[in-house]
Amino acid sequence: MFETLSKAPGDKILALMGEYAADPRPTKIDLGVGVYKDEKGTTPIMSAVRKAEERILAAEKTKSYLGIAGNKGFGSAVLDLTLGDSVDRSRVRIAQAPGGTGSLWVLMQLINRARPGTTVWVSDPTWPNHNPIAENSGLAVATYPYFDPETRGVRFTEMLAALDQLGKDDVVLLHGCCHNPTGANLSAEQWDQVAASLARTGALPFIDLAYLGFGDGLEADAYGTRKVVSSVPEALVAFSGSKNFGLYRERIGAAILIARDAEQADITQSQLLNIIRGAYSQPPDHGAEIIRTILEDADLRTEWEAELNQMRTRMVHLREKLAETIRQRSNSEDFDFIADHRGMFSLLGLDSATVEHLKAANGVYMVGDSRINVAGIPEERVGDLADALLAANK
Ligand code: PMP
Repeated sequence: MFETLSKAPGDKILALMGEYAADPRPTKIDLGVGVYKDEKGTTPIMSAVRKAEERILAAEKTKSYLGIAGNKGFGSAVLDLTLGDSVDRSRVRIAQAPGGTGSLWVLMQLINRARPGTTVWVSDPTWPNHNPIAENSGLAVATYPYFDPETRGVRFTEMLAALDQLGKDDVVLLHGCCHNPTGANLSAEQWDQVAASLARTGALPFIDLAYLGFGDGLEADAYGTRKVVSSVPEALVAFSGSKNFGLYRERIGAAILIARDAEQADITQSQLLNIIRGAYSQPPDHGAEIIRTILEDADLRTEWEAELNQMRTRMVHLREKLAETIRQRSNSEDFDFIADHRGMFSLLGLDSATVEHLKAANGVYMVGDSRINVAGIPEERVGDLADALLAANK
């Protein structure tokens, strides 16, 4: 059987992690892998998560099956967190899924059941896993203009013109906030225009919300999602709790669907649950129960929000410090965009030879497309990093 197979390509980011681990230089800097890191370079368990886990351990009475849609308290808390009161809940359904990736997967499968082979439009560039998830679900992928390598901002006029050309059979995948890999995001006014375009064309918005709270705060980061879902009859949202709750390995996320009315919502949800049943039957509970416990308890919620805010402001501070240091040392504004970007990543716009050079000469590791994880910048090394970037960019 297996002799028919040839080796699948390895994951580039995991390979980079391996290279970094094998590099003996004590001065090396890891800006590669996409997990949050604190000032000690570790990815800690949030204290609200730890406390929730203690409560769960003491109170849990059964390990019996959860049900296909998952933890109900988790579901309604996540709807409050993501959608707020932007849309009538009678039109909304949610199913817990394994991570943002699992949520994207089951929703792509749902799209393919509704319209086999339809096209999902993704930003150029986008998170590299979007394409395989869509294609493995039977969908076609095309790109709309997004990142401007000159300004390192969004090519908004071109993006909007492309979206305006789409129709009812198209799906538009949008990053709800904290765009990965670029770090360049839409302003509130631009979200308004995107929402109006989607309402006009009838293309289906599909929002990937993997970094809620990592950009400008929980409410500000939800603006685009809420604006879009309140402007159109149908929408999909894939939520991830990996980053904002630091629950990466618990694999916790949610697939959210908004239908034109309650009856259509029930029918569509029945197909979503049927997809889940035929894939992994039921989701695991632990991450969902942690999030439910935190969001339903006033004290734990306050503690979580404070911790999340601390992580967010640390990333904004590192952005500002790096941009400011480069400005001072080069007398140029070429890297000011780092301070304007939001979320964990910035795409520096360096070519692959420069990325390789930074790794070989300076031990600065970033993804091959020149994406850096700003949370990985050691604050005391900002000067060294600024010098390395400036020397490599000459
Ligand atoms: N979407 C985007 C844009 C992401 O960056 C990620 C994580 N790297 C995910 C979805 C999925 O996250 P997870 O499956 O780990 O929750």
